[in-house]
Amino acid sequence: MTITLALSKGRIFEETLPLLAAAGIEVLEDPEKSRKLILPTNQPDVRVVLVRASDVPTYVEYGGADLGVTGKDTLIEHGSQGLYQPLDLRIAKCRVSVAVRQDFDYERAVKQGSRLKVATKYTSIAREFFATKGVHVDMVKLYGSMELAPLTGLADAIVDLVSTGNTLKANHLVEVERIMDISSFLVVNQAALKLKREPLRRIINAFASAIPAEQN
Ligand code: AMP
Repeated sequence: MTITLALSKGRIFEETLPLLAAAGIEVLEDPEKSRKLILPTNQPDVRVVLVRASDVPTYVEYGGADLGVTGKDTLIEHGSQGLYQPLDLRIAKCRVSVAVRQDFDYERAVKQGSRLKVATKYTSIAREFFATKGVHVDMVKLYGSMELAPLTGLADAIVDLVSTGNTLKANHLVEVERIMDISSFLVVNQAALKLKREPLRRIINAFASAIPAEQN
């Protein structure tokens, strides 16, 4: 019975490695050096597939992978139908925030009730946040480089992931609101959980025992 784990390259891949090690699983190739999309592990019945971060929930939902690791931001935007979410792994931590150009008076725009032009990849999170605040927005959907939007006049504000804040600073943007804290979750295909119960439980339990401690 083969177990397929969907991961995305970068922070999620790197920070999942110690959790895999706790389950006795070692990935045998480095995704930064290899062009392979299916990576073998030291366990013949466990393999890792590399997919785009926003595709992880889709792979797991439709059974292209039995389980995966994905950010809460991605889960909210995708919706969590068909996905069992047993664990907050507390890895790849960041936050979703609103940022504007240094010279844009966000407080005043909000107070005056002006329509705010917001560029983001996270349209569901942004829509709900501004609706709760009672701010009218025109949403511009982007797929990357959100920081450019306020600099080119495409938008007044962006809603994006922030970790150290260095990317905002380098682009003369300031964080004006923190919408939510983000971390990555383990998601499991519900049918696989029944059909491959034992091997999946083993991995879930090992991951649970290796989750990094809460840092404040
Ligand atoms: P920073 O400069 O450290 O604030 O990082 C911000 C940039 O990294 C933005 O382009 C974000 O989209 C991206 N980023 C930060 N944290 C994460 C994460 N956990 N997962 C994916 N992208 C992230």
